[in-house]
Amino acid sequence: MEKTKVIQNAESVLMHTYGRYPLVLDHGEDVYLYETDGTKYLDFAAGIAVFALGYSDDVYKQALKDQIDKLLHTSNYYYNEPGLAAATCVCKSSGMDRVFFTNSGAEAVEGAIKVARKWYYKKHGVANSTIIAMDHSFHGRTLGAVSVTGKAAYREPFEPLIGGVKFATYNDLASVEALFDDTTAAVIMETVQGEGGIHPADPEFLKGVRKLCDERGALLILDEIQCGMGRTGTMFAYEQYGVKPDVVTMAKALGCGVPVGAFAARGEAAEALVPGDHGSTYGGNPFVCKAVETVFAEFERLDVLGNVAKVAPYLWETLEAIKAEFPVVVNHRGIGFMQGLQFSVPIGEIVKKTMANGCILIAAGADVIRFIPPLVVTKEHVDEMATALRKAIREVVG
Ligand SMILES: *Cc1c(COP(=O)(O)O)cnc(C)c1O
Repeated sequence: MEKTKVIQNAESVLMHTYGRYPLVLDHGEDVYLYETDGTKYLDFAAGIAVFALGYSDDVYKQALKDQIDKLLHTSNYYYNEPGLAAATCVCKSSGMDRVFFTNSGAEAVEGAIKVARKWYYKKHGVANSTIIAMDHSFHGRTLGAVSVTGKAAYREPFEPLIGGVKFATYNDLASVEALFDDTTAAVIMETVQGEGGIHPADPEFLKGVRKLCDERGALLILDEIQCGMGRTGTMFAYEQYGVKPDVVTMAKALGCGVPVGAFAARGEAAEALVPGDHGSTYGGNPFVCKAVETVFAEFERLDVLGNVAKVAPYLWETLEAIKAEFPVVVNHRGIGFMQGLQFSVPIGEIVKKTMANGCILIAAGADVIRFIPPLVVTKEHVDEMATALRKAIREVVG
């Protein structure tokens, strides 16, 4: 079907929840995406930080094909070996004791909130606990996840949401402390804020929140749905802070394209949910767990963290050079392969022109371009992206 026809027809049957770019993607190869008409793009968005391994990992693909032939789904009434393998990988790498697999990131956040509430209920014998969340945070679109999301525009049309959520200012420890009281069950935050504009937690802030949670008897929930799975250079970003959460959420690159998320917990938090408290028909089925197991194995085999250590500093230098070159670039932030450039002009046109120049980039808010490529990109790919971006900035701002 002709490209314009696909777009037109899709717009007539899909709900208008997304402002889509006019691309009709057909297939991926290496770290490139191709449209149905053959147009080729270097992919520096990775399906929003999902395709950590790129599009041509044959070991991963074969493992999924084999699992399709064996068994896709069983329900959670029974055990299966991929489920055990995936759970072991997640617990080992995150330092958590137990994990629950979900079908998305938002569901992982839902689960983490339920853990916090149930943990508090068990400890104090009363419900109605509260949660401290952060301004400019993003935790997903379900009603529970949106209740702890910092952007008012995402919440207000859907009120009443779940109650008992208070918002502190990210990287302002005093603002968190001021919200603590006897009802506080948990603090939830991203280790590195993604959608909110690529803001890493200050080390003193994260350590301070951990200390407050310990002193005041609350759980620390770290949302690593975007920044986890190697993106910042360690499997989980909190490793670099010397801080361990009580509950961690993950999704995006966990299955590298297969819809799977998870919340994992340790200590008392890992024992909070008991039979009857939570469940999911699909959650953690053999197919998605085979994907998770294989992703962890491929990270080892391909030394993905080694590649992040090698290439991410080069991306940093490259973006620093672009910042020095163009006065419209006012800020550069991030860790590893999760970086952002803040512009003094709206970035919509720059992103579109970069795409027309052959490289897919995405925004994080109205003035930040986000760089979240597959974790297997090379320095040559970074150069290719930079050429497309430089040209686009010149085209837009002159
Ligand atoms: C993407 C994202 C989510 C939501 O994940 P979905 O799979 O879209 O539900 C939650 N938290 C963070 C930090 C994210 O980046």
